[in-house]
Amino acid sequence: MEDRELYGRILGIQSPWSVAAVDLQPASGEVHIYLSHDALPEWPCPECATPSRLYDHQPERRWRHLDTCQYRTILHAGPPRCQCPNHGVRVVKLPWAEPSSRFTALFEALAIAWLRSASQKAVAEQLGLSWDEIHGIMERAVKRGLQRRQSEPVPRLGVDEKAFRKGHKYLTLVNDLTRGRVLYVAEDRKQESLDGFWSTLTPAQHEGIEAVAMDMWDPYVASVREHVAGADRKIVFDKFHVAQHLSQAVDEVRRKENKALRAGGDDRLVGTRYDWLRNPAAADARDRRAFAALRHSELKTARAWALKETAMSLYNYTYEGPARKHFQWWHRWAVRSRLRPTIEVAGMMKRRFANIITYLRHRITNAASESINARIQWVKYTARGFRNKQNFINAIYFHCGGLDLAPAATK
Ligand SMILES: [Zn+2]
Repeated sequence: MEDRELYGRILGIQSPWSVAAVDLQPASGEVHIYLSHDALPEWPCPECATPSRLYDHQPERRWRHLDTCQYRTILHAGPPRCQCPNHGVRVVKLPWAEPSSRFTALFEALAIAWLRSASQKAVAEQLGLSWDEIHGIMERAVKRGLQRRQSEPVPRLGVDEKAFRKGHKYLTLVNDLTRGRVLYVAEDRKQESLDGFWSTLTPAQHEGIEAVAMDMWDPYVASVREHVAGADRKIVFDKFHVAQHLSQAVDEVRRKENKALRAGGDDRLVGTRYDWLRNPAAADARDRRAFAALRHSELKTARAWALKETAMSLYNYTYEGPARKHFQWWHRWAVRSRLRPTIEVAGMMKRRFANIITYLRHRITNAASESINARIQWVKYTARGFRNKQNFINAIYFHCGGLDLAPAATK
């Protein structure tokens, strides 16, 4: 078998295309494959497939392909242009590559498969790609994936914020809590950040929204109110966000009390910070016994802790009526507690209660986004080469969007 035929087979080059020449360059470890095509008078238009007259050829272009026998393999061809009666002069579809890519579709598919499980740095090194090339492959993959996305119902949404780098740069994420994927990423955490999401949904998807979990963050509330019918019955303030506020109150009380106790030579609260914050069930038995004594003490910190635990038992109720009663009772206790941080959180919970109690109806939290968050942490960790926020946003879609990323030519 001749070189040309062999390479034609290896590369899967089919009529009207064929391999015209093979130039093996052992010194540089490269093999250059020159493609040509039969003299077809007409080519299908890339937009509408209407047979269209051959117009001319673009100058020769190159595509990096999968290595063959350790040789870096580069295809060369001059893409024909045809003149469609409807669309004018267009470059024809090439079976081995997506338009405007410098890689063949199989090469991109390989890079995409590796990028899903290895760091960008590792893939860049293994395949000899630059950061820009890696980001280009990911960006094209995400664009394809978003275009192919179906409009399945998204009844349960979670709106979450993510810090981008240290400091105060944020991204807003909208998660599909049913399918555990990221639907939308936008810069910042303003109302506009979330506003952009709603127009990506079809009217049927809009109507199908049953509940939206989120932090107690007014810009998000405002956006949902403006765009979702019956928003007040659908917004659910995240249970873990509520718990976090209560925990912060415990911590503030403890810090202040610890200082006062130590001044009098009492070290009981020293080193107990995490005992108060973690779930007691998670501690080992010895720690649990030692901590039980503290919990049952007359300390203010113990009182703040009991208030937190009691507030959270709200979430164990099945019915709204008894849950409301529980909250009213708890709120009266909290405001009389003389613990300023706890009183403040109690006030906030009372103001926000209408959308805290909605939990009992919808039973959603942003914790369903935990696996997404874990993946985003991984994305952050393995992609220290982000030059800008857009690359990070693309990487989130790439890894967490549940998208079909493969190049069309490989399907
Ligand atoms: Zn056309």
